[in-house]
Amino acid sequence: MDSKDFLHKLLLTPSPTGYEQPVQRIVRDRMKKYADSIETDLHGNVIVALNPKAPRKIMLAGHCDQIGLMVRHISADGFVYVAPLGGIDVGVLHGARVTIHAEKGPVDGIIGRKPIHAQTGEERERTRNDIEKIWIDIGAKNKKDAERRVQIGDVATFHLSVVEMANGLISSPGLDDKVGLFVAMEVLRICSTKKLNVGLYAVSTVQEEVGLRGAQTSAYGINPEVGIAIDVTHASDNPGNENPKVTPCKLGAGPTICAGPNINPVVEKMLKDAAKKTKSAFQIAPSTRLLGNDANTIQVARGGVAAASIGIPNRYMHTQVEVCSYRDLELAIKILVQFVLSVNSKTDFRPM
Ligand SMILES: [Zn+2]
Repeated sequence: MDSKDFLHKLLLTPSPTGYEQPVQRIVRDRMKKYADSIETDLHGNVIVALNPKAPRKIMLAGHCDQIGLMVRHISADGFVYVAPLGGIDVGVLHGARVTIHAEKGPVDGIIGRKPIHAQTGEERERTRNDIEKIWIDIGAKNKKDAERRVQIGDVATFHLSVVEMANGLISSPGLDDKVGLFVAMEVLRICSTKKLNVGLYAVSTVQEEVGLRGAQTSAYGINPEVGIAIDVTHASDNPGNENPKVTPCKLGAGPTICAGPNINPVVEKMLKDAAKKTKSAFQIAPSTRLLGNDANTIQVARGGVAAASIGIPNRYMHTQVEVCSYRDLELAIKILVQFVLSVNSKTDFRPM
């Protein structure tokens, strides 16, 4: 399986938060021939390691979970009502294709909507962001018919598909954060052919979308010295982002290297040096706040971890048409491989 196939497989496999097992199986399968060890912890994180006996440990985290929906009610006439799993944008659900991942197999459905002709002005406004007004139509005749296919508690995602666009752009639901997961695993795969001075742990973390939870448990378990989250970051190069106070972030201009209180300054500098050494374009992403990704909980695991974050520019986050650039993935992989190789026994990550 080549790398692009692996990425596409991740994107086409459902992993709504808390129900990540299908995508974790793909990760274990793909990585077994490159890893020295692979473990699945009790929380569901998949921990892929190289050189695990080394005294110094570096953790790379890419979260495998994606936002989704959970079935909470089936009406007498067979329509399926849902609650959000993670930060779903209800505004983009109207008219969307979805898949309910039921026990007997996937059930396709669509999210219906009262035709615009029939909506009052007030209705248009009121239903826009109200998940209670959303229903999935699976074509069932009635409740009994629906229940033969779908059960309360089943989870759903947007219909999973990959669209290849001009200029090396790709669109798919769940690019957040299957691209980060992909980068973490590719770095480990490439490092498996090199001599390492450190133990390298690529972690497919669970439950990021509901509170950065898999990174918290896996960082505790691994107890690394350095932990780098690889996650999508908001691109600003599409309409609607004309805010001069926001640091620009362009698709295809390289991954971002974050700065701020959530970031260890030694790791940040080494990442920038790694980018320069490999002639890889990157963008600077300053944040005065703690990050809304795995770097947040990794930093304060146990006695503290030298945390950092690499961002993959992403348009339309948390919709079914998220967009990323292949080029940013390639550059992120190059930078991280160089970073891992540059750590030696003398490297001191303590901020001094
Ligand atoms: Zn994410």
